[in-house]
Amino acid sequence: MHEMSLIESVIEIVCETARLNGARRIKSVRLDIGVLSHVDSDALLFCYEAVRRGTLAGRAKLEINRIAGEAWCLDCGKTVALQERFGACPDCGRHRVQMTAGDELKIRDMEVI
Ligand SMILES: [Zn+2]
Repeated sequence: MHEMSLIESVIEIVCETARLNGARRIKSVRLDIGVLSHVDSDALLFCYEAVRRGTLAGRAKLEINRIAGEAWCLDCGKTVALQERFGACPDCGRHRVQMTAGDELKIRDMEVI
């Protein structure tokens, strides 16, 4: 389950950032997760509950911000919605598309006390 190692890295980064800023604890953490990134939000939240114990993020709220899939279609010359990683352009049906959003997995921001 890669959600576990993922959330471990997130906790590590936010705790280190909080420590460097002299924070007593972390209030909340917001993650940007693209819908095409193959990350299961439920599994992520489940792992988070287990991993955050005893850390500065022990009582931090985890918010997951899902980012919709988007791609640039070379044939249409515009940004189109992308439903799957290697999906076709919904307008012209061709596959000359480059994913521009929906694959992200990053810490958007965090609140500390
Ligand atoms: Zn197109």
